Amino acid sequence: MSNRKFHIETLAVHAGQPDHGDPTTYARAVPVYRTTAYNFRDSKHGADLFGLRELGNIYARLMNPTNDVLAKRIAALEGGAAAQTLSSGTAAVYFTVTNIARAGDEIVAASNLYGGTFSQFDAILPNVGIKARFAPVNDFAATEAAINEKTRIVFIEAVGNPALDVADIEKYAEIAHRHGLPLVVDATFTPPPLLRALDHGADFVIHSLSKWIGGHGAGIGGVVVEKGGFDFTNPKFALYNEPDAGYHGLRFAHDLPEPLKAIAFSIRLLTVGIRNQGPTLAPDAAWIFLQGVESLPLRIARHSENALAVAKHLQNHPKVAWVKYPSLTQPELAKKYLPNGAGGMVVFGVKGGSEQARCFADSLNGELFSLLANVGDAKSLVIHPASTTHSQLSDEDLRKGGVLPELIRLSIGIEHIDDIISELDRALESI
Ligand SMILES: *Cc1c(COP(=O)(O)O)cnc(C)c1O
Repeated sequence: MSNRKFHIETLAVHAGQPDHGDPTTYARAVPVYRTTAYNFRDSKHGADLFGLRELGNIYARLMNPTNDVLAKRIAALEGGAAAQTLSSGTAAVYFTVTNIARAGDEIVAASNLYGGTFSQFDAILPNVGIKARFAPVNDFAATEAAINEKTRIVFIEAVGNPALDVADIEKYAEIAHRHGLPLVVDATFTPPPLLRALDHGADFVIHSLSKWIGGHGAGIGGVVVEKGGFDFTNPKFALYNEPDAGYHGLRFAHDLPEPLKAIAFSIRLLTVGIRNQGPTLAPDAAWIFLQGVESLPLRIARHSENALAVAKHLQNHPKVAWVKYPSLTQPELAKKYLPNGAGGMVVFGVKGGSEQARCFADSLNGELFSLLANVGDAKSLVIHPASTTHSQLSDEDLRKGGVLPELIRLSIGIEHIDDIISELDRALESI
């Protein structure tokens, strides 16, 4: 379909699938292609595919028509030129970074990251020779001070986990671009139609598909969308300017044919990261996410509406010390970046501290809310991060990431708002 003509709600249902359904069977739903390899008509066909003289399917670590529809659909929703699916959001982050930076390079990231991403940057990237420097979110002086001649990426989360700070994406883009660097935004908490970070200057957008896009807590996957046209010809991007030994000396920023040059990142991610390092999304998982994405605009509107109502309710509750919800806590930034709703997450502090917060989470866990380490399910979820998701971080890193001991993180589902609020009241009364 012609993506430009249609709204996000329409793209969520149709984009990426050939018109008239599946090209071989005309199946209306996207089929799951459960195959490891694809037949060559003859040796010449195989040789042409391997030699990139003809484009087509070779082996399912690299390409699968089910995953392809999903990648194209997410790219359409985000307004990007290309996208690649990966086995998890975590893999999407790791393979995005290592598709731009290599040993000896550095990245600069906001410090309020998802716990797993923070650990990856802080503890694992150094093992492959990449140093991450952190700056508090929206502290532009500190961000700029952390950038040096070795920096290759500026990385932020659109709405940080779990403190829900809204990043000023346009300011980050201005700084990154002034230094010739790409801005990578993890927008997992604010999928379209809440936010399209590429429209605000981001060059790459990452999603964990496991969260709101999948939307039913039924699978693990990730995706990275490329805006297209980022200039990787500066020699400091060695991975794009030095001849690639795996591809007969190809230089990704220079030697690709014109239409592919603009999406050199996605081509390199597919042919180097995914092909030869293997973080492939299973087509069954891709199919699950395709079911989810069809209703994403409907669900995310309800998630946002319910979460705002919960945040307003908690603000007036005597047992609640403080509440964070993007449109209440940072109204200016939320108005600019999240005019269609601020997402399904609410965080708040239980009066008393860590022990009371733990008791509250235990009391809430049951009929409607589930106590678990996930967000973005249609079902309401609760967690006490300091004792679970963020427990591997030091006290200092916890505070830097905004994870206070009394903090409760709610992922508000699409149940009836009256039921959600009465469960929260019951659990607050019980402590
Ligand atoms: C969950 C999450 C990830 C990691 O995604 P997985 O699919 O669980 O690997 C990365 N970033 C954010 C903001 C997340 O919420």
